[in-house]
Amino acid sequence: MPAPPGRVLLLGGTTEANALAERLAARGVGAVYSYAGRVAAPRARPLPVRVGGFGGVPGLRAWLRAERIGAVVDATHPFAAGMSANAVAACAAEGVPLLAFERPAWRAGPGDRWTQVRDLAAAAAALPREPEVVFLAIGRQGLAPFAARPEHRYLLRLVDPVEAPPLPGAEVVVARGPFTAAGDRALLAAHRVARVVAKNSGGVGAEAKLAAARDLGLPVIMIDRPALPERPVAGSAEAVMDWLAHEARLGL
Ligand code: NAP
Repeated sequence: MPAPPGRVLLLGGTTEANALAERLAARGVGAVYSYAGRVAAPRARPLPVRVGGFGGVPGLRAWLRAERIGAVVDATHPFAAGMSANAVAACAAEGVPLLAFERPAWRAGPGDRWTQVRDLAAAAAALPREPEVVFLAIGRQGLAPFAARPEHRYLLRLVDPVEAPPLPGAEVVVARGPFTAAGDRALLAAHRVARVVAKNSGGVGAEAKLAAARDLGLPVIMIDRPALPERPVAGSAEAVMDWLAHEARLGL
């Protein structure tokens, strides 16, 4: 008799991972949902949840063995390059099948006024000289390069309240996506935002701000995705479920 298949490790923290968690639970697949622990109170999931880093590649390797993980689905944010690289290395070393659930990058369409840049430092450098209000839709990490451009006023949208703005003089709005274009239009207008800085995350949970910028005719500085090691990629939850059933042979 072949050994029973192990559980699925779902690396999460995204709208797409949450949708996948629902499907795995509905199909009765044994799976664990993993959060990095950046958000104070992550929402409950229909799967067992673990929180916190694994301790690099060695820690993840040990965890995969200890938890008898039979397949890993990396549905982290496209900018979570450290976790994704660790997953590639650990899965290769342990012989555990890995699939990335990657949403397509956003593309500029008619009416969009985008400047594409390679990273956060380039985004800060691309801001104009004249002071203006900038919506920094990039989360709480990676704000440091913008401290070097104190002539601008920054609007930040964060999941958790903060005692002091993580960027001097910034205004903080606390809200958790997914967002709507109408809501984001109202936000940008109320704060007199003149420009949006965004990471090219792709996906539906965060694209409202781009539609809002387009509607208001605002320029967007769009940060390209970081490079990742080669890995098999699926573009939909259906494709992930298929892969689990056939490639990872979980017998769904
Ligand atoms: P990162 O730079 O790739 O990760 C840094 C470290 O955090 C990893 O090496 C790992 O620690 C731990 N980690 C990251 N994701 C994890 C997960 N799902 N489960 C357990 N440990 C995890 O990632 P990040 O950019 O800080 O993002 C952290 C999390 O927030 C990700 O899960 C991502 O999906 C989510 N997120 C990120 C962004 C973004 O813009 N970066 C936006 C929305 C959501 P060890 O090395 O100790 O294992």
